[in-house]
Amino acid sequence: MASYLDTDVRYLKGIGEKKAQALNKLGIFKVCDLLSCFPRKYEDRSSFTPIALTHDGENACIQAVVADSPRLVRVRKGVELVKFRAVDDSGTVDITFFNAPYVKDQLRRGQCCNFYGRITFLGSHRSMTNPVFEDENTPGGVTGRIIPVYRLTSGLSQRLMMSAVRQSLDAAGDELPEVLPEEVREKYRLAQTGFAYENIHFPRDFEALELARRRLIFEELFLLACALGKMRDSHGRAEGIRLENTDMSEFFSSLPFSPTSAQLRAVSDAMADMQSGRVMNRLVQGDVGSGKTLVAAALVWYAWKNGLMSAFMAPTEILAEQHLATFRSFLDPFGIRIAKLTGSSTAKEKREIKARLASGELDLIIGTHALFSDDTEYAGLGLVITDEQHRFGVNQRSSLISKGDSPHVLVMSATPIPRTLALIIYGDLDISVIDELPPGRQKVDTFAVNESYRARLNAFIRRLVSEGRQVFVVCPMIEENEELPEGLKSAEEHAEALSRLFPDLKVGCVHSRLKPKVKNELMQSFVKGDIHILVSTTVIEVGVDVPNAALMIIENADRFGLSQLHQLRGRVGRGRHKSYCVLVSDTDNEISEARLKIMTSTNDGFKVSEEDLKLRGPGDFFGSRQHGLPEMHVADLCTDMNVLQTAQTAAKELLESDPDLCKPEHEALRKAVEKLFELNADTLN
Ligand code: ADP
Ligand code: MG
Repeated sequence: MASYLDTDVRYLKGIGEKKAQALNKLGIFKVCDLLSCFPRKYEDRSSFTPIALTHDGENACIQAVVADSPRLVRVRKGVELVKFRAVDDSGTVDITFFNAPYVKDQLRRGQCCNFYGRITFLGSHRSMTNPVFEDENTPGGVTGRIIPVYRLTSGLSQRLMMSAVRQSLDAAGDELPEVLPEEVREKYRLAQTGFAYENIHFPRDFEALELARRRLIFEELFLLACALGKMRDSHGRAEGIRLENTDMSEFFSSLPFSPTSAQLRAVSDAMADMQSGRVMNRLVQGDVGSGKTLVAAALVWYAWKNGLMSAFMAPTEILAEQHLATFRSFLDPFGIRIAKLTGSSTAKEKREIKARLASGELDLIIGTHALFSDDTEYAGLGLVITDEQHRFGVNQRSSLISKGDSPHVLVMSATPIPRTLALIIYGDLDISVIDELPPGRQKVDTFAVNESYRARLNAFIRRLVSEGRQVFVVCPMIEENEELPEGLKSAEEHAEALSRLFPDLKVGCVHSRLKPKVKNELMQSFVKGDIHILVSTTVIEVGVDVPNAALMIIENADRFGLSQLHQLRGRVGRGRHKSYCVLVSDTDNEISEARLKIMTSTNDGFKVSEEDLKLRGPGDFFGSRQHGLPEMHVADLCTDMNVLQTAQTAAKELLESDPDLCKPEHEALRKAVEKLFELNADTLN
């Protein structure tokens, strides 16, 4: 049955072909789109202020009598004024309309009207220019209540939007689907759909608006939580291998340093999961340098103590290489058997390692995607750890998981994201946050400069290199066919320029068009210290550790997201040397400047990302494709945290009682969730 909600907006009264096209531009095609296009803000015209109590510069709604006949005054050619006075019991206001001669005939002396506009004081006189007005008896008018303000595009007016929404609400009547099950609505005291849509557009009062808003935000986040919950495959609910509690002091006391309390917390969270009898699905989130690798090593040790094999998946060869060395230093003393398997392992190595994996002769395998190639088999895989999660698709994660018999899963992410966002993006995971850096960590001094600092910057490079340090220079990524916008540095050209400038230094250049093998070799020689200055696009790997690098220069820094800048900055300051990050940008765009300023003011990745989220909105958060978030209509992920948590709990409860949403009373919900999947096919799968 066709629903009124599917009606094309061009059939609404007052909307023709042209206006319909303007609506289309806003993404509004059908009545249901229009109804989901919520006001951007509201104007409070709900109460009338006595004229004498109005203040200079404030918007006020007054109810007053037209005190003299409106006069038409021609000031000069092309400027016509309509002027009159209006009075109420308390005072007088001079009202002027510019270039609206018809107003003269719409108002007559003695008529009582409502006016809404800005009050200005001219000496002791109050005045109002071009106010909105209507007769006091106009039903459903634009004064005396809270008025919605919609996002517009050329060809549309607020009045037109209001009338189109009004018509749609009236005609849609009961057709607005109630996707929230009654039990949920009652438990969380949420308004009904009809009430919510009516009052989000035309609030009866502010209390009603709040109820409407809360319900719609809840609905949005609840739908998302249900979608994510359903995404958790049978694995998420599956029984897991139950590990014994183990005294970890043997491991911790073997370390050259004491773990931070945040590290200990993450380890014990994960241990509790693995002892629960259910499969662990945990995200460990920590800023760069917070020591996630140690957490992973502790859990590998724990699994080994319980007779289980672990697999550690890194996003790139070079990271796999580095992790191998780190894990060895932590775990070799215990005789834990570790091997590495990557795409570049020789056929013979691969064969050998696969044989050892299949026969259970290894305790830890570290590698890249090669770990889950079809012909790799594992005996007794109990724990799967993936590093830098956002580089792997959910699918890749699950293919590694499928190698074991419901192994426990730990995901490590170095992208600090606000907890609100984490709850959504990783809605299928429990979260531990490492919110503390190991003691004695120096902060990376960060500066935002423009081209006029170039000479000083070059001198600084020279000085640091002569002190034995190494330098990273990052240029924005240029797409294959993209023409270089003016002023933008390409990595290759910039590297050439630096070689000319520092003929005695070794300058390397890595970019995405190089073959992986060449890229890898260049990275390796930088790690070894054979290259002084490494120019690159953002291909420099997320977790690469070059303790000797003390300067990170980012060219055209305004082209990068804040989180990305923070990640890049995390490449330096990893050793004992005082380190610096210089953001070069000639932008005079205010937002870009504000963003760069955030970088110079804090080294805390969570703060950076929170500010980034505020400035850019979640849609842009990780750049175009990686965020995996459907667009939010009402919910503000920065401020609606409480509702988000409630919605998550509610979704969890509901899915426990009806995992496939197949009960008849959940049909509308199931459809809405399916629609969400359809609309976000590429991110929610
Ligand atoms: P990330 O979280 O970025 O992966 P790493 O695990 O690479 O961080 O740790 C960064 C550095 O800090 C490593 O050199 C590691 O040995 C060191 N480290 C980790 N934990 C501690 C600690 N508790 N005390 C001192 N140093 C630590
Ligand atoms: Mg790391």
